[in-house]
Amino acid sequence: MALVLVVEDELTLAQTIELYLKQASYRTERAGDGKRALELFRAARPDLVILDLGLPELDGLEVLKAIRAESDVPVIILTARAEEIDELLGLGLGADDYLVKPVGARKLMARVQAVLRRSLPAQHARAVHRIGALEVDAYSMVVRVGGRPVDLTPTEFRLLHHLASTPGRAISRNELYEAALPESDAYERAVDTHLANLRRKLGGAGADGLIETVRGIGYRLADLTV
Ligand code: CA
Repeated sequence: MALVLVVEDELTLAQTIELYLKQASYRTERAGDGKRALELFRAARPDLVILDLGLPELDGLEVLKAIRAESDVPVIILTARAEEIDELLGLGLGADDYLVKPVGARKLMARVQAVLRRSLPAQHARAVHRIGALEVDAYSMVVRVGGRPVDLTPTEFRLLHHLASTPGRAISRNELYEAALPESDAYERAVDTHLANLRRKLGGAGADGLIETVRGIGYRLADLTV
């Protein structure tokens, strides 16, 4: 889960923000002054920074400048004064969002999620499973064998993606059914039909024998990494 660095010198507010984030399953780090914020930023490499402007040691503006000098990490600014937002925008320092205190939990979480949605595709794009000549790209939903795309139905893609996330693991029909046909009222055996089509397509593309049958259980993807 994404790691959020909370930079806020008012301890109660910082702890409250951390609590909201944790309830939404984010991991958090907390800094109470600007110097500590930069130390933690460099050590923990967060996915998002929530940054208060009024801070001891090094103020929020200096922290933002230092972060921007080395990273495009998304930053949400918290400020006590709405006028500060105009000043900041004028400086063109590239914060991703601005919130004026007091900040409600719901609003803050909505902004956190929106900012992360915009920034995280770049990371998902790297989430490509490679098994031998097979490539399963979860971000673009494209499957390639030897660099050439294979035309799959959405259900076939979900089946293959689920198998490819844990090569070598025997996966039950039921688990594959839940992963690939969640809104379907077909029977579990429908998995077999889709798997047969998937095998045929992969075989046609030159990746034969990748999907193995596990008797009495279901299927597994051959683990070519060992
Ligand atoms: Ca403050």
